[in-house]
Amino acid sequence: MQQNLQKFIDTQDNIVILTDGKILNFANKKMFDFLGFKNLDDFLKKYNCICELFIRDDKFFHLGKISDDEIWVDEMMKFLEPERIVQIENLNKIKHIFAVSITNFDEKLKIVSFSDITQTINQQIKLEEQNIRDTLTGAYNRNYFDLNQSKIIDETLKSNQKLAVAIIDIDYFKKVNDTYGHDVGDYILKQFVHEIKNSIRHEDILIRWGGEEFLLLLKITKNCNLEAILNNIRINIQNKNLTYAQNLTCSIGATIHQSENKIISTIKNADINLYKAKKNGRTQVVLNIDE
Ligand code: GH3
Ligand code: MG
Ligand code: MG
Repeated sequence: MQQNLQKFIDTQDNIVILTDGKILNFANKKMFDFLGFKNLDDFLKKYNCICELFIRDDKFFHLGKISDDEIWVDEMMKFLEPERIVQIENLNKIKHIFAVSITNFDEKLKIVSFSDITQTINQQIKLEEQNIRDTLTGAYNRNYFDLNQSKIIDETLKSNQKLAVAIIDIDYFKKVNDTYGHDVGDYILKQFVHEIKNSIRHEDILIRWGGEEFLLLLKITKNCNLEAILNNIRINIQNKNLTYAQNLTCSIGATIHQSENKIISTIKNADINLYKAKKNGRTQVVLNIDE
């Protein structure tokens, strides 16, 4: 009977274990194959519990999220199902994501089943990415802005920073298309975004706002020199010589968001400054900072 049960559990597609939350009492073949151990004894030489292998990533459950005297299976049972997710590396160091289900076996032991949802999650992430990115340049799109604007503003306020809003617009881009054709125009747009990304911080947010016009959101501290930051972006673009003939330049209009205003009116103010930059002869930054 015991042997048949073992055979049955070994044929399961999920990793199935029996544990009190501290020590592994039983595991099926799937677990040993996944982690690269011969059997339970082999596993216990290195670890006591599979929980030691949960990767410490904030998106998933791991031991760092509970205190030392808490037992992970008990704590995890308090979570809602979508939050019972862990990430574990296999023997080839590839990270897999598992949905975990826990059932009581007896008073002490629990049956824990790990169902591999890596592919589903990755597909979901890919789809979500497609929805929020501009396909040509890879910058975020307006949908991203619509979905995240309140979150970005809240985060800025909470971190005691200010949100700088800049609109970057390529100068005479129509001429680029007219001279080299639309395909080259497309290529230059991609390069333009690539170069801006090289000049900004990882956490700055670049959104394709219109054709050759980009919205840049930067969380800044009070004493940072926004004008210098934006001029640095502008000069980097100019120095890259993106059109190979005449240097491609851009103009930037910017301002700082005041929490009592609507973000759309802040963007409008940045746009007014962009218009001034264009009118003043382009290739420049215009901003107003009224604290
Ligand atoms: P300004 O200095 O005043 O900004 O002049 P401009 O020529 O850049 O501005 P205008 O608004 O007159 O023209 C923008 C051009 O950008 C026109 C349009 O064909 C081009 N454009 C917009 N989106 C794309 C795109 O996805 N690919 C290409 N190749 N061109 C685009
Ligand atoms: Mg333009
Ligand atoms: Mg434009």
